[in-house]
Amino acid sequence: MSVRSTLSRREFFTWLAVLSGCSTGISSPPFNRPASLVASTGMVGDLVRELVPPSLGEVTTLIRPGVDPHLYRPTRADLLKVLNARVIFSSGLHLEGRMDALFERADRPGRPSIAITSDIPKDQIIYPDDHSGRPDPHLWMDVSLWRATLGLIARTLKDVFPQAQDEIVGREAQLSDVLARLDKTVEEMVASIPEPQRLLVTSHDAFAYFSRRYHIPVESIQGVTTDSEPGVADIDRLVDIICSRKLPAIFTESSVNDRGLRAVVEGVKARGHELILAGPLYTDALGEPGSPADTYVGMMLENALQMASILGGSTTPLDHWTQSSGNTHSSSRGLFKPLSSNP
Ligand SMILES: [Zn+2]
Repeated sequence: MSVRSTLSRREFFTWLAVLSGCSTGISSPPFNRPASLVASTGMVGDLVRELVPPSLGEVTTLIRPGVDPHLYRPTRADLLKVLNARVIFSSGLHLEGRMDALFERADRPGRPSIAITSDIPKDQIIYPDDHSGRPDPHLWMDVSLWRATLGLIARTLKDVFPQAQDEIVGREAQLSDVLARLDKTVEEMVASIPEPQRLLVTSHDAFAYFSRRYHIPVESIQGVTTDSEPGVADIDRLVDIICSRKLPAIFTESSVNDRGLRAVVEGVKARGHELILAGPLYTDALGEPGSPADTYVGMMLENALQMASILGGSTTPLDHWTQSSGNTHSSSRGLFKPLSSNP
């Protein structure tokens, strides 16, 4: 069986016991080799990668582009990476529901396991009515809140790499500035979408934070997680809303099955309306390497670009950003940099 294969439940708990009992499990990297920093999702890994000096820390992301974190089960290879990590960063709020136990058990002196949303004030967290009192984990969809996680990441990195405190502070300030501009750009683009097209219809409830921050109503056919099938009543309800507003498009998501949305399109067409199935929007995972959405900034700009251009808004705010060819794994990498930060 390959090391990439998913673990059985029994194997998983055996490994957890190893993680818990292994007092010398923290491996020091060989001299001059960067320490291994493990991140759960691409959105988390991207922030960590921007803040850590590359000579000191190398970031590995466990959940690959296009993969749904709600349903992701750790593989043997993931467990080895966690066991050998110097720091583990997760998104938290039960996004990585099937990895929560792993991340909790891996935490120990000398190998912190940090949920980067744990410092966000509780009154900023959304608790959906139909989610059994659990929080909505999709906090990165509000750029201002995702930006607020930088403080905890930077503090953790400064503890682990005290020799690089000044550089980490500088990197944090730079990224904070970029994210403040990103927040404003997304806000302007969404604000340009006119009524009655000002409605976002997607597969699952990933946009509650986005909706609250950028003032666009959202509807979806699944709940906050993707582990339930959409019902006929959910589909009929959406068909009614779309037909009454003559909405031009609904959006697939890169990491979620679009079967339910296709049923909505069929239902709308059966009533004599046209409806574009647009997307994908990037909600729970970054895009593939080399795509415009392969960074957190790129993901959010790509989403705003699709919404504004397809729902009748303006893409002018994007003029303040430029696409550069990806120079991966450094802070100068990535598509969509603010113009003024270019050399
Ligand atoms: Zn989700």
